[in-house]
Amino acid sequence: MTHPHTRTYWLEQAWLDTHVEPGVVLEVADGRIAALRTGVPTPPPGAEILRGLTLPGLANAHSHAFHRALRSTVQVGSGTFWTWREVMYSIADRLTPETYHALARAVYAEMALAGVTAVGEFHYVHHAPGGTPYADPNAMGEALIAAAAEAGIRITLLDTVYLSSGLRSEHSGEPPNSHQLRFSDGSAEAWAERCSVLKEQDHARIGAAIHSVRAVPAGQLATVARWAEERRAPLHVHLSEQTAENDACLAAHGCTPARLLADHGVLGPRTTGVHNTHLTDDDIALIGGSGTGTCMCPTTERDLADGIGPAVALQRAGSPLSLGSDSHAVIDLLEEARAMELNERLRTRTRGHWTAAALLRAASADGHAALGWQDAGVLEPGALADFTTIALDSVRTAGPLPRLGAETAVFAASAADVRHTVVGGRHVVRDGAHALVPDVPAALADAVAALRA
Ligand SMILES: [Zn+2]
Repeated sequence: MTHPHTRTYWLEQAWLDTHVEPGVVLEVADGRIAALRTGVPTPPPGAEILRGLTLPGLANAHSHAFHRALRSTVQVGSGTFWTWREVMYSIADRLTPETYHALARAVYAEMALAGVTAVGEFHYVHHAPGGTPYADPNAMGEALIAAAAEAGIRITLLDTVYLSSGLRSEHSGEPPNSHQLRFSDGSAEAWAERCSVLKEQDHARIGAAIHSVRAVPAGQLATVARWAEERRAPLHVHLSEQTAENDACLAAHGCTPARLLADHGVLGPRTTGVHNTHLTDDDIALIGGSGTGTCMCPTTERDLADGIGPAVALQRAGSPLSLGSDSHAVIDLLEEARAMELNERLRTRTRGHWTAAALLRAASADGHAALGWQDAGVLEPGALADFTTIALDSVRTAGPLPRLGAETAVFAASAADVRHTVVGGRHVVRDGAHALVPDVPAALADAVAALRA
């Protein structure tokens, strides 16, 4: 007799952090892995059979869900990050709690189909256009938390402070422009008050974010750092994505953004710098030495012509790496993982900066840790029962020996090869179909069309 809250999975091949193990049984109870047995060549009676290579769930550590509505629209014409941003604002202007909920539910369902079991949502569209708070001032954030639940994945809502359009002095920034008014709470204290009302749930954690040194005056950084410190919550910040940000920071404060953040208590092991692209050697030492993480978003960084961040040097200096699909030009964490390695190959003209195992760790365990889910992203007893299975018999993945499953997953597979996704012991994606959102492409098309109407 099987207890209703227990379930047995038989994994044809399993990635156990260092190697591929054939024939593994996972016993799942109350949403966690209760036991793991190896050396089981055939499925036990009643077990759910997962054919292919099962990996720990993937963590998408940096997302702006609404950017999904920009897909392809921003591939016409030329420009820079700054011209792209104007198109992005035209979508941000149109979001309501209802339209954002519908879009995010579809985007998070797309993530589940890509093997993602937890998303870090860097959320800054807080208020109505013009900056008037909604009746429930957290209506937008709560819409995102509900969307993740409906799509069957975990979320860390990184509620973001966004107060100014540019740097000016220690205590004030340039006022927000007309698009940015709805991002701003007016002050870091008002932001803290609003976020303190947000409630964590089984699938949802609350973290903090500083949009960038452009968007938060230096004198208010410590308020955000303290809020995160008191709650032991993750704190994320866009860091040196653009050289213009570095130039403006030097002009206003006489130092780099990384130095400014360090001097105001923002860096540390619960903090993640997103992009960390244009850094000095001193910046790398500050980030690595403080244990601050680095979230690379290679498909977005190449899409926006940002540049290639020094991920190898950052990791060597002590910065754990995570990965995110950020603007969702594509949603494919396997592509993010291989792009980080391949970017480095192009830059250095040498191969093999990371093993496939190290890249998978960035996409799973270290990504989860960056989002405050220290108990996920690994296949071991006690961990949350979050995992995803990659087909090893598709046109992309057939051929290599099973023991090369990690290399196949990272360097040849795509999100289209994700066959199953299980979150907290619940089968969210089965045989490539989402179990909770019946027609994900239609949901995406409808949600994007509603924002264009
Ligand atoms: Zn971002």
